[in-house]
Amino acid sequence: AAPTTATEDVTAANSQDDKKLLGSVRHGPPAIVEGVEGCIGNTPLFRIKSLSDETGCEILAKAEFLNGAGGSPKDRVALSMIQTAEKEGSLRPHSGDVIYEGTSGSTGISLATLARARGYLAHICMPSDQAMEKSDMLLKLGAVVDRVPPAPIVEQGNFVNRARNLAQARTASNNSPADKSSAASASQLTSTDPTSEAGVVTGRGFFTDQFENVANYAAHFNGTGPEIYAQCGGKLDAFVAGAGTGGTISGVALFLKPRLPDIKVVLADPQGSGLFNRVRYGVMFDIKEREGTRRRPQVDTIVEGIGINRQTANFEAGREFIDDAIRVTDAQAIAMARWLVEKDGIFVGSSSAVNCFAAVKTALELGPGHRVVTILTDSGTRHLSKFWAMAGDVGGTVDTKLEDVLNVKSDI
Ligand code: PMP
Repeated sequence: AAPTTATEDVTAANSQDDKKLLGSVRHGPPAIVEGVEGCIGNTPLFRIKSLSDETGCEILAKAEFLNGAGGSPKDRVALSMIQTAEKEGSLRPHSGDVIYEGTSGSTGISLATLARARGYLAHICMPSDQAMEKSDMLLKLGAVVDRVPPAPIVEQGNFVNRARNLAQARTASNNSPADKSSAASASQLTSTDPTSEAGVVTGRGFFTDQFENVANYAAHFNGTGPEIYAQCGGKLDAFVAGAGTGGTISGVALFLKPRLPDIKVVLADPQGSGLFNRVRYGVMFDIKEREGTRRRPQVDTIVEGIGINRQTANFEAGREFIDDAIRVTDAQAIAMARWLVEKDGIFVGSSSAVNCFAAVKTALELGPGHRVVTILTDSGTRHLSKFWAMAGDVGGTVDTKLEDVLNVKSDI
């Protein structure tokens, strides 16, 4: 009999709702699409040969770095947040409206790209310790970029709070100029918001708020999750991903769990993040049982884009479907990133390396014969000056063993 496509296998076994969602998953070469937006989603799922051979499992990578607008899964999220805001009337194309976001970079790049395509200006606030490649790229895209000193979320100077405050100030100043408090905001805006100095004064501000805006995980529930399910023909044993906002892991988990109740959803968490404890113990504190104290982890990481110390709406939306968490150190992330280059020619950024490390651990726990899916979020080219500067060059004649990667000495 002629082989059926993965989509046919899956849709045959599922409801009308599934058919609708899965019907949008493309197979074969895509038809001509509309602009950069048409290049978002339907990314390949490929087998990582070295890790599959070593573990006896099938380790599959969703190549999200191939999203064709900003080169990361944040393309899906940016499009979803912009479309939702347009539907609600909070953003009006070609009106002078300005999109504000606090981001480690990826979401900013996706927003700035789509802002160009839809006639908005983007104003991106990011912590100053993130790789320069990302802010340089944002400037090339014509975004206004604030690199602000890293600060806890409880402080107004925090990159997320700054983006929210600037958006509110712009909207207030342009909606009701007679209002005294808005006038105060407007003068504050002029002195602190370079978007005003860029000559854009007519539009409103809109804070996309990727951490709390549920249009974020909806993009993964409607796109990434159904795509993985269809590409696997409905057969997978584990899904492993890190969380920066939680949108990816929640959206994919919420889609997969009802269809595959036995699937194991695993959080890959970098050192210093509180989410490991949130998944394991329900709280975001390190519980030092012996000392009887509770404290937040205060460990720095060179990994960008994942790991947080607060509960976001997007993470909490899917938390009950996350079965376990694996902590990955910087040293382990570096060892895995180098392995992927050495063995497979896969050149990715730090969060992808964390994901792959945790995917291997998950595969070894499950035992041979299982299928584990993870995400490759962005290219190593975004991380040359920081993560890859630490990781160094991968020599031409090395022959690393997976044990060496798994047992690498932690640097903390
Ligand atoms: N990797 C990178 C490079 C990112 O920028 C992000 C998002 N901040 C993630 C992974 C995590 O994705 P999510 O926000 O969906 O949890």
